[in-house]
Amino acid sequence: MFFKKSPDRQKIDGALQECGAANYVDGVEITDAGDVIVTLKADMSDPGKMESLRQIVEMKISAVKGIQKAIVILTAERSAPADTSAKGKKLDLPHIKKIIAVASGKGGVGKSTVAANLAVALAAQGQKVGLMDADIYGPSVPRLLGLPYVKPETNENSRLVPFEKYGIKAMSMGFLVDENAPMIWRGPMIQTAVTQLLRDVEWGELDVLVIDLPPGTGDAQLTMAQKVPVTGAVIVSTPQDLALIDARKAIEMFRKLDVPILGLIENMSYHICATCGHEDHVFGHGGAKEEAVKQDIPFLGEIPLNGEIRRLSDAGEPVALKNLEVSEIYKEIADRVVSRI
Ligand code: ADP
Repeated sequence: MFFKKSPDRQKIDGALQECGAANYVDGVEITDAGDVIVTLKADMSDPGKMESLRQIVEMKISAVKGIQKAIVILTAERSAPADTSAKGKKLDLPHIKKIIAVASGKGGVGKSTVAANLAVALAAQGQKVGLMDADIYGPSVPRLLGLPYVKPETNENSRLVPFEKYGIKAMSMGFLVDENAPMIWRGPMIQTAVTQLLRDVEWGELDVLVIDLPPGTGDAQLTMAQKVPVTGAVIVSTPQDLALIDARKAIEMFRKLDVPILGLIENMSYHICATCGHEDHVFGHGGAKEEAVKQDIPFLGEIPLNGEIRRLSDAGEPVALKNLEVSEIYKEIADRVVSRI
């Protein structure tokens, strides 16, 4: 029996042909609601071109009669995964002296909180510091610094002007993407986004740029580690086995890419009871320290699970700038990081 393509599908295929996208199509899905989701296999060698093509295809298909909404997604070609052996060409950033990448194997371990506190603690030492939020899955720097979610301004050189707060300059993917937009910042798109955040932002002269990486060890992280001239990586983990397994993968990735590992931080290490002062080892304290010894990498410190950290972070006030016991811990970690770069 012969199945005819639906009229909608024929029109979509026609539109794809017209924009010259037919060769890149990986899949076309028409939902019951009449939305169309097109996946394009991106050509890794020219991500800029792919993003333009993505936008054109989205416009064209949205204009097809009978289509409610078109979502076009770029994915990295499966047959060409990021090559860990290739070091790739790194961006030339002479105005930035050191770059520290803050990474974690898992999300929600406090990586962004560490990155923001590290940045403000370094600035408090008198260094010129930038904080770049490259966590595409959940940019949190605007929240951590209490910045408004507004688009950054562009200056006379057509460069984005970073936000300034607590003595640091900050730029986040969160300012550049529409929060309601589909997650297109995948695979090769990340390269474009990271390049934009590094090269098209008016950072000025910086002693240190702290980068909050997305969690995990996928293509996104690999691309960044290959593209950005990272001085060293700081890895954040909770003491649990599961988080440590993922932290180990992150360590492994940086080793393969010859990115020096500045050390491991154990976050949510223990909990001090606010009423009786008892120290409770919620996630089995000390796991990350043992792991650091095992992996032969420096241990940078342990941060307790602390209500004030969560409260102040969510209020956009970095703990490191306060006069609390936990503030000292972040400052000490910053000192240890400085001594290693
Ligand atoms: P990640 O960047 O790893 O996803 P975040 O830094 O966004 O994690 O932290 C996740 C949540 O945990 C946030 O609400 C943050 O305030 C909270 N948090 C981080 N570190 C601590 C800590 N040591 N004690 C209590 N809450 C913390």
